[in-house]
Amino acid sequence: MATDPASVLGTAKPAWAGEDVAMLYDMARRFLAEEIEPRYEEFEKAESFDRESWRKAGEHGLLCASVPEEYGGAGGTYAHESAIIEAISHVGVDGFGIALHNSIVAPYILHYGSEEQKRRWLPRMATGELIGAIAMTEPGAGSDLQGVKTRAEKDGNHYRLNGSKTFITNGQLANLIVVVTKTDPEKGAKGTSLIVVETDEVEGFERGRNLDKIGLKSNDTSELFFNDVRVPTANLLGSEEGQGFVQLMQQLPQERLQIGATAVAMAERALALTIDYVKERNAFGQKVIDFQNTQFKLAELKTEATIGRVFYNDCAARHIDGGLDPVTASMAKYWLSDLQGKVVDECLQLFGGYGYMNEYPIARMYRDARVQRIYGGTNEIMKLLIARSL
Ligand SMILES: Cc1cc2nc3c(=O)[nH]c(=O)nc-3n(C[C@H](O)[C@H](O)[C@H](O)COP(=O)(O)OP(=O)(O)OC[C@H]3O[C@@H](n4cnc5c(N)ncnc54)[C@H](O)[C@@H]3O)c2cc1C
Repeated sequence: MATDPASVLGTAKPAWAGEDVAMLYDMARRFLAEEIEPRYEEFEKAESFDRESWRKAGEHGLLCASVPEEYGGAGGTYAHESAIIEAISHVGVDGFGIALHNSIVAPYILHYGSEEQKRRWLPRMATGELIGAIAMTEPGAGSDLQGVKTRAEKDGNHYRLNGSKTFITNGQLANLIVVVTKTDPEKGAKGTSLIVVETDEVEGFERGRNLDKIGLKSNDTSELFFNDVRVPTANLLGSEEGQGFVQLMQQLPQERLQIGATAVAMAERALALTIDYVKERNAFGQKVIDFQNTQFKLAELKTEATIGRVFYNDCAARHIDGGLDPVTASMAKYWLSDLQGKVVDECLQLFGGYGYMNEYPIARMYRDARVQRIYGGTNEIMKLLIARSL
């Protein structure tokens, strides 16, 4: 029997992972293994998922798990989002951009949207009719978001939106995009606003290249162009202009924590796959697991992954209770994604040459893991934020 990534560490179940969360995890894992995993290679080659998969994910309750039922969601909490994110990494379909849709885009609408906006967008995000993206990064502004140049100028009851974005996850498929834009460039951060663009409803919106990445191939990551796009002023998030930066800062802890969820779950899968491999593979007349080096290496990695899992579970508990501070969330993002990189790299080594072959999942995991240290704020930026608390 293959080692199960969900139990490879043997840590205690946290209080937040109650029966309904466990049921959702099992259901998500079954759906992903049966419906997505068999087609994953096809999506990797196409460098994109298809709309059908998103719709099916909606039917199986994987979209907007923490959105209240009155807005079409499942009425759960971050615990439910965590279960889905972990199932995605445990099955190994890491390019499915659900975490961003559920845990980043939907919360902006839920927390800052008007009643009318929530009723208009969230139910369609829950079915997969609308696929979400968040467009912060520009060719000239990544870590330093104050440098955003995209401009929204008021024109009666519309904004005229001009600018370009890059590296946008779900960018080829997304039809609901939260755009970070300047409504008053003179005011710097205080002149920044979030405006929702429903791409099916506007003219002047163009998708650029689906970017050629080293990993997460099946996720469409795109350039986006806004050329005099007319967006109703009713699509502004928040009661007035200029709240964008504060809204971004308030939501970042969850964005960073969910990167930590992926990190821990992928480290668990790497360990499970490697333990099975070294028990099968022979060298010098014995199994690779019989070498003391293999045992010590895996003992170290299992210990560190356990420390990571306990830290993540504690951060998640604090977040669900509303008490995860931005500094601890930054620690989780940086430390857990570094750990993920280390675990996957050292596990790959134990596969020898086979670890370098794409037909072995550990090879893909190695490529997919790398970006976790870059997006969501680079790990250097995380350290800056942590250092400010000293
Ligand atoms: C696959 C992928 C998906 C992404 N998805 C999205 C998305 O959905 N939406 C979105 O808006 N963006 C997305 N991004 C963009 C991502 O968030 C940025 O790439 C990231 O924030 C870094 O910005 P940058 O690439 O401009 O690097 P830069 O800001 O140019 O940084 C270059 C280097 O300088 C370092 N650096 C920068 N400032 C400092 C400092 N003050 N002190 C020390 N070091 C510093 C950085 O750590 C980095 O090592 C994605 C990126 C990738 C690769």
